[in-house]
Amino acid sequence: MVPLAVKKQTVAILAVITVFSLAILMLSNPSYAQTSIPSWIKHNAKMWSEGQITDSEFIQGIQYLIENKIMVINQSSMQDKGDFKVEYIPVNDSNYIQYEKMIKDSGLFEQYADGLNKIFVLPTDVTITWKECGEVNAFYDRNSKHLIMCYDLVKYFDDTFYYDGESDQELVNKTLGATTFTFIHELGHGLIDVYNLPATGKEEDAVDQLSTIVLLYAGPNGKQAIEAAASWFYISGSKANLEEMPFWDEHSFDTQRFYEIACLTYGKDPQENSFMVDQQILPESRAVKCPAEYEKINRAWTTLLEPYVKEDYR
Ligand SMILES: [Zn+2]
Repeated sequence: MVPLAVKKQTVAILAVITVFSLAILMLSNPSYAQTSIPSWIKHNAKMWSEGQITDSEFIQGIQYLIENKIMVINQSSMQDKGDFKVEYIPVNDSNYIQYEKMIKDSGLFEQYADGLNKIFVLPTDVTITWKECGEVNAFYDRNSKHLIMCYDLVKYFDDTFYYDGESDQELVNKTLGATTFTFIHELGHGLIDVYNLPATGKEEDAVDQLSTIVLLYAGPNGKQAIEAAASWFYISGSKANLEEMPFWDEHSFDTQRFYEIACLTYGKDPQENSFMVDQQILPESRAVKCPAEYEKINRAWTTLLEPYVKEDYR
């Protein structure tokens, strides 16, 4: 195994851009804020008070104010009582020492936690725990509000990407990229839990989509993280044996997860990503639907999270 040489600078940029991308995500919906109430609304109010217009006509005026953000309804009365915190449980197995060092030295997760605390109102603490799990995994525990990240998973990424024959630095970038994708996926589970967000469809798909759209806003480093996650699902999916596929599992199959990431990436910018169709990475029959799919998912996550974003980042 090639020892991992972490370049702090690259990593720091990834962290900062990713965290800021969350804020940008929140701002991606157009806002038509005005400061004054239009005179026709004032006129309507007078007419309504005098019984000259109906309740429903008056309500239409109020709806106009809300939709155009002239009247802002504070949808969340949630108080900021918690923070994202990071903890590291020391490893026992010497095989994981280099991964423990890699994650700690990167300082990535302190920066993620710090950025998230600046952006989100949290009703309770959520602890990001790094540890050796004895299995390749990452998960969010609703009872303890712990987001568990396993060094076993980082080793798995390192092993998976190593066989691509990449340079040390590329290997580190891919490994941290896929780790970041996974972290935002688990963060999605955490946000759904602490805000009790409604969702239809599979939550696993929804949080993959969150991770993809956040990273799509995160510049070249975000793109690299998406590519790493996509190649992880592609490699893993191509190893899958059809007869042993867990059809009961809550996750979509890895190859499907690959295509979902590809679709959203293409959907955000079909022109820049036209090569994906040309090179048959994404079949055209799916690609034509991706811009609308991207818009819908971006709007859904933005709408769901906006009430919990601190005033400065709205
Ligand atoms: Zn999950």
